[in-house]
Formats: sequence, structure tokens, C-alpha cells
Amino acid sequence: FVQSGIRMRLYSHTSGLKVVVTSAPGPQIDLGVSLATPATDDSGLPHTLEHLVFLGSQAYPYRGVLDLLANKVFADGTNAYTAQTETVYTASCHSREGFTTLLPIYMDHLLRPTLSDDAFHSEVYHMNKDNEDTGVVYSEMAARQEKDWSRLWRACLKSMYGDSVFSYDSGGLLEELRTLTNAKIREYHSRYYRLDNMIMCVTGSIHPNEIFEALEPWMDTWAPATPTPERPFTQSLAALQPLTGQSTVEILFPDGDDESPGSVAWVSRTCRYGDFVEVLALEALLELVCDTAVAPLRRALVDAEDALCADLAWDVDEGPEYLAEIVMQAVDPDNLLGAAEALRAELAKAAGDADLFDMASPSSRLRKIIENNRWAWISTLENGSSLHKEIVHIASAFSCFAASDDAMTLERACRRADDYVTLLSKPTEWWQHLFTK
Ligand SMILES: [Zn+2]
Repeated sequence: FVQSGIRMRLYSHTSGLKVVVTSAPGPQIDLGVSLATPATDDSGLPHTLEHLVFLGSQAYPYRGVLDLLANKVFADGTNAYTAQTETVYTASCHSREGFTTLLPIYMDHLLRPTLSDDAFHSEVYHMNKDNEDTGVVYSEMAARQEKDWSRLWRACLKSMYGDSVFSYDSGGLLEELRTLTNAKIREYHSRYYRLDNMIMCVTGSIHPNEIFEALEPWMDTWAPATPTPERPFTQSLAALQPLTGQSTVEILFPDGDDESPGSVAWVSRTCRYGDFVEVLALEALLELVCDTAVAPLRRALVDAEDALCADLAWDVDEGPEYLAEIVMQAVDPDNLLGAAEALRAELAKAAGDADLFDMASPSSRLRKIIENNRWAWISTLENGSSLHKEIVHIASAFSCFAASDDAMTLERACRRADDYVTLLSKPTEWWQHLFTK
């Protein structure tokens, strides 16, 4: 299908592998491979596995082979990240030959990593001769775990979802990393690193046949998809109960008499995957109330004489359900609950101000925001690298959260430029209702 002048094709292989090929001019070819990797506890299985796949595969059982080869043919080497729901592997290449050489080698690492005990020992966790906890992943998480933003975000997810795949730490908590075993990682790998749990995005000027020819010898040795592959999030999504009421959680960090400033995070569970118009509306609404000197929340909380915080940040966190988030930064630690109350009161006040949501007025800020966001989206599509990033994002969410592999859902998810136009015709009451909700 074609969206905003971009031609995308979705292919499904008998193995269950889905491949999205997007034409883009220029010599660069970008690869993004996403796997749905639910965190089933706080032991960091998705993240530790992400580290281990780079340390050797059955056909290339040596640490660093992938990077060595990547350096020969790839401009920017290989990279990866673990998010709450998916793990994404990327590479970027400046020639078609380089790309087709590296693709099967990369796939061998992803699907047939050696996962040796030695690699686990050095890369994940071990105790050194001085009885100190160490390991690459362990040290990475030790540097992160007690950071205020990390604790704040974990507390938000726990309040929203209790103990579930939507709130466990995909990176791993230290206490659980210390008892994690390589056997558990191997088991996790065989459960989720399957072709029928994977979507591959290739963006650039390459013919789809070249991609499939490069993969074919490697794919021939792979068993066909099971008739009903596990869709890791479908069940958890169906079981999600709506939240009733609101709650406040206070976290003392690192202890009660610390003088450093605090933060207040306001989080709300909002629409679900598939509500593509609503999520764009949410972003526009948060921008409307938080950004620039005329935004009501900023005026009342940051720029006022009796300011309660030094800055405001907002985000819409993508997942099976979108989380709207506002963070007050540098808040007086003795007045955290007061600041939280003031934020709630300002949100309620904004919800009652119909003028804020009236797009008919010539000076409507909401209209301006939507028009600007639409142009920003269109210009994103005009740049090969940012286009690829967005496609990986969209394809990954489609693969993780859509009810089926129907290409129409993917096409729908890409229709963002039209969705902004739809928003421009929404009446004041629609906006006000969404904001209040
Ligand atoms: Zn890491």
C-alpha cells in the first residue's frame, strides 16, 4: 500500500516471519528486527538475552564476529534495545551487497545464539574474586536502578498494572539478576525468539526478492510455523481491567531527610492500540496544556510567582495501552503531595475551560499544534533514517498488539497524516470529553 507517498509492502513467509519492505531513495539500507518479548518477572530476561545474542551463534561461535563483519559491510554496525514489550535489533548499510551478506549472519545470531555459560558469566552476572557482584548487564542496571526517574517510572507502572507483563522491569532488578540462570535465558529464547514472533523492516532501495534470496538458504533449515503461534500480549491485553478512581504514591529517595529536589509524576491509562486518532489527540492536548508560556499548566505551576516546580515534561508512552504522563521537575521535597494536588486542580480547571478546546476561533492554539504536528510527521517521512525509525516503531506495535496479522491494520496505523486532518474537524465537546476522560 501507499501512504503519504511512501510505498510499503508486507510479506508473510510460511515460517510465520513478517517482512515490511519500504522503498526509499538513496544508497542506505536500514534494517530493524523486532520481537515481542514480554517481561515475565523482574529478572531481566529480555534485556540479558539482547546482550547475549551478540556473543556468537551456531555458525559463527565467536564473540565479536557479528561486529567485525558488520564493520566490513555496514556503515553504522549493529545495535539493539530492549523496551517494555519488545526487543529491537537494528543495522544500517551503505550497499545492497553488504546488506544481503550480513542479513543471514545477523539472523543466525538472533535465532541460534550459542548462549554459552561463559558468555552468561561475563556478560550478565558473576561474583568476582573479591566477592563483589559484577557483569556487564549487572553493572548497567546497578547504575540505573536507584536513579529517581527509574524508581518513579517503576512506581507508576506498578500503580497502573500491579504485577504484570506491563509493569515488570524488562531490564532486570539487581536482586533477581543475582539469581538468574543461563538455563532460564535459554528457555526464554526458545519461547520468544521465533520467526512467527518476529517482524523485519527493511527500508531503502532494494527489491524484496533480494532480501528473500539472501534469507532463503538460511530459512530452509527452519521449521515451519506452528499452526497457532503464541501471541504474547493478546491474553494479557484481554485480561486488563480498567482502573477505578485515582491514587497517590509517595516514594522517599534515597531517604527521608535528603535535601535534593523531588519530582511529581501524574500518569493516566488512556486509549488502546488501534485508537490511532485518539492517541494523536492526546499528544496535542498534553502539548496544549504543558508547552509554551501561554499553556495553562505551565503558567500556574512553573511561571507563577509561587511556582511549584522548575519545569514540566509530558509524554504519551506507547504500549498495548497508551499512558499519558506529566512530570513536574525540581519540586520542593517537603511539598510533593501539595504539588501533586495543585497539578490535579490545574488539570480540572483546564478541563472546564471550553475556550481552550475551541478550534473555530482564529487564534486557536490547538489548531496550530495539530497543523504543526502534521507537518512534522510529513517531514519525518521525507528523511530516510527517520522514516525507517517510525516504520520500525509502527510495525513493532502492529506485530505485538494487533489482534491479527491483517495488513489492513498496518496500513491503518500508517495513515497518520489523514488522522491529523480528521482531528481538525473535531468539535469542542469531543476534545473536552477526551481531556476530562
Ligand atoms: Zn544493556
